[in-house]
Amino acid sequence: MPLEFIPKTQELDKGFFTLFPGLCKGCGLCIEKCPKKSIAWSNVLGVYGTPSVEANNECTACGICQSVCPDCAISIERKVKH
Ligand code: SF4
Ligand code: SF4
Repeated sequence: MPLEFIPKTQELDKGFFTLFPGLCKGCGLCIEKCPKKSIAWSNVLGVYGTPSVEANNECTACGICQSVCPDCAISIERKVKH
């Protein structure tokens, strides 16, 4: 699999936060736009050798970060309530 398509998935309370570090350019837009302030810089490097991002359990799986990322580096899957 090409490096840019290797995902890094975090299972959180409300859903799955998947980042593709090889697509993340470290622009910080997702951090700025997350309404829960649940995204921070991570130790995993992105495509330009800058930090990529990770989420924490404050995430509501709203999907805003997925929508605003200019490089489609985030994928959100919301957990279904039973
Ligand atoms: S908006 Fe996308 S490219 Fe920018 S830091 Fe977030 S995940 Fe990386
Ligand atoms: S899905 Fe919503 S709450 Fe979760 S990290 Fe993205 S913008 Fe923040």
